[in-house]
Amino acid sequence: MSALEALKAELRVVARLRSTASLLHWDQETHMPSGAGAARADQIALIESLTHERLVGDGVRRPLAELVDLDSGKPDPALDEETARLVHEIWRDYHQAAALPADFVEDYARLTARAQQVWAQSRKDNDFNAFAPYLEKIVAMKHREVEYLGKKETAYDTLLDQFEPGMTSAEVTRLFDSVKRRLVPLIQAIRDAGVDTRQEILKQSYPKDKQWQFGLQVLKDMGYDLDRGRQDVSAHPFTIDMHPTDVRITTRIDEHDFLSGFSSTVHEGGHGLYEQGLDPEWYGTPFGQAISYGIHESQSRLWENLVGLSKPFWRHYYPRLQALFPENLQTVDLDTFYRAINTVKPSLIRVDADEATYNLHIMLRFEIEKKVINDGLPVRELPELWNRKMEEYLGVRPDSDANGVLQDVHWSFGGFGYFPTYALGNLYNVPIMNQARKEIEDLEEKIASGNLLELREWLRNRLHRLGRRKTASELIQDLTGSPLSAEPFMEYLETKYREIYGI
Ligand code: ZN
Repeated sequence: MSALEALKAELRVVARLRSTASLLHWDQETHMPSGAGAARADQIALIESLTHERLVGDGVRRPLAELVDLDSGKPDPALDEETARLVHEIWRDYHQAAALPADFVEDYARLTARAQQVWAQSRKDNDFNAFAPYLEKIVAMKHREVEYLGKKETAYDTLLDQFEPGMTSAEVTRLFDSVKRRLVPLIQAIRDAGVDTRQEILKQSYPKDKQWQFGLQVLKDMGYDLDRGRQDVSAHPFTIDMHPTDVRITTRIDEHDFLSGFSSTVHEGGHGLYEQGLDPEWYGTPFGQAISYGIHESQSRLWENLVGLSKPFWRHYYPRLQALFPENLQTVDLDTFYRAINTVKPSLIRVDADEATYNLHIMLRFEIEKKVINDGLPVRELPELWNRKMEEYLGVRPDSDANGVLQDVHWSFGGFGYFPTYALGNLYNVPIMNQARKEIEDLEEKIASGNLLELREWLRNRLHRLGRRKTASELIQDLTGSPLSAEPFMEYLETKYREIYGI
């Protein structure tokens, strides 16, 4: 067997271990009895330490050493361009994993598995103090992780790079600033317009089973393959992949909030399509993996916002929705419904935010995370800082920590550096969609006639199948012919909301 074949075979073993841990996580969030928390944390920690051991073991190191220089990651000059790219990306993963001592990996996995359970309870009890000691330990471990991995421009940059390879906080700041310059006046103008978008239409009683049925139909139309995936209910919707043939999504359904369940379903469906679209032949290798968290998020948000909140989409689906909920919607016309689902209104909870104010939720988290990681802000001061920033950015003050600093799961699994990728997803998805419109003839009309498959095919061929053959910035440059900028996203928002709000 060649070194490359041996390497790929060993990486498939690593991926199988990793997918086993994923399955344990999926079960923890969907069906696990609540009393099993501590035992589950031990199981996950064990599998994750075995995964790490195998990834940094001889089975990977030996063949990899034949293909790249292990210190610099420089590929053997005899390799063709594609193989050189592949082994460099493998080296990147290997190098980062090898920098972390085995006991650190195991301790971290156990701590964060437990912390997620503690966070869920703290949020339920509105008790930040119960979660704070865990968060303090996590922050301390993040600092050790930065030391092991090597500090980039700032400690935060090292963490950000884990989620969005190649991205820096300086670049994120530049992008966010140019969003903010146009977004803040837009939101102000929307507020001043004083238009009643009749959101109450969406808050009537929508029986859960019918919402489920509608969401599932949209998923099928999007091309989400239910023979290679499934949908369940969880408190916080997520997508988890075991293999391109087993990609599971979850949603949540609120009888009195139609948009919440619909958006979650389509959002996670977008993530699911990306994972189902990866090339199984490259399973376990970087060419069988998503480019970055930001690109992943671009796929969920493209479906959720650019498709699922668009007029063409509802031209097809609204009559069907009316037929399903005649007592709620019979007398509501399409334009009224369209305005209701596109209401812009500053609110407390990120996951319920509209596509315009959403970005402000991310900006404040980005600022707070940098303070914790770079400036040593004590964890105990987080609730107060959070509330102050909410007033500054969104003009609303949380009524409780449960609706404030405790609302997101991310810090409990150590995901510092994760949040910016959500807003980056918004910035990536508009130029991607603009390009799809250029390359797919009459895309809007196709969507308006319920044909979503052509868009999925285009995304699959132009993006999903690539795996990590390109970085996020290379992808955007190659696909659209321009580097990433905030302008397409702001153009999109301004055009859409000027029309809706008559400003
Ligand atoms: Zn997402």
